[in-house]
Amino acid sequence: MLPADHHVHSRWSWDTQATSTMELACARAVELGLPALAFTEHVDFTAWVHDDAGNHRGQTVGPRPRVQPFDVAGYSADLSRCREMFPQLRILSGIEAGEPHLFSDSVAAVLNSGQFDRVLGSLHAIEHRGELQFVDHTLFGRLEAHDLMRRYFEELLVLVESSAAFGILAHCDYARRYWPAAAGDYREDEFEDGYRTVFRALAASGRALEVNTRSPLASVDLVRWWWQAGGEAVSFGSDAHDPYSVGNRFGVALDVVEAAGFRPGRDRFDFWRR
Ligand SMILES: [Zn+2]
Ligand SMILES: [Zn+2]
Repeated sequence: MLPADHHVHSRWSWDTQATSTMELACARAVELGLPALAFTEHVDFTAWVHDDAGNHRGQTVGPRPRVQPFDVAGYSADLSRCREMFPQLRILSGIEAGEPHLFSDSVAAVLNSGQFDRVLGSLHAIEHRGELQFVDHTLFGRLEAHDLMRRYFEELLVLVESSAAFGILAHCDYARRYWPAAAGDYREDEFEDGYRTVFRALAASGRALEVNTRSPLASVDLVRWWWQAGGEAVSFGSDAHDPYSVGNRFGVALDVVEAAGFRPGRDRFDFWRR
C-alpha cells in the first residue's frame, strides 16, 4: 500500500505551469490509490526584509527573475474546492520554504497568513562571493564539484540547527541533481560525514527526513545513516511539478526505506517510522 505524497507542487508554485492544476494532481493520486497528498508550494523571496536572519549576514540575494510571491488566498480557495471534489482523498496544505533559516521573518509572515499542515524546509541556494545563489549548473561551473557539495552540507547543517519552522527536511542532497558528468559518478560515501552530521542534528530536532523521488533515489545505505542517527520518521515526496509525477517511483522508494529499517507508521496517512 502506497504512503502519502507529502511534496507536490501545483500552478500556485512560481516554477510550475498553469496547466498543472490541483484537480489533475488529486485525480492522479486517486488513480494511484494514494491515501493523501500535500500541496507544498514554493515560498521563495527576492530580497530580505529587515529582520530576516540572512539580512544580518551581510550577503545579498542573487538575481531570482522567475520567483513570484505565493498567493495564499488563491491557493487556499483552490484547496478548499479540491477537498469538496475529492472526499476520498486527504488533501493537506503546505509550503516548501526555501532557506527558511535565512528568510526567517519572511517565511513567518507567510505561515501567519494561512493554515499549513506540512512545512518543508529546503536549501536551494548557498552563498558564493557575498551573494545567495541558486545551486544549478551555473554554480557548479563556478565551484569545484566536491567543494560545492561540502559547502552545501555545511549550510544545510546551519538550516537544520536553526529554529526555522519546518517539520520535514526536503531533498537533503538537492545539489546532487546538478552534479556534472565531468566530475565522475556522484558517490554518497564521499560525503558520508556531511550526511551523518546533518542527520544527527535533524534527529535531535525531532523533524522528519524526506525521501525525494525526483532527485536521484537515495540508497539503502544513505537511509540507514538516517536510521543510525536516531531518525524517527521518513516522509515520501515526489516533488511533482506536473500531475503525472505524483507518487512517482514510490514503489522502489518504499523498498529502499524498508530495507533501511523503517516501517509504516500508525496509519496510512502517517510517515514511516523506526
Ligand atoms: Zn525543492
Ligand atoms: Zn519541491
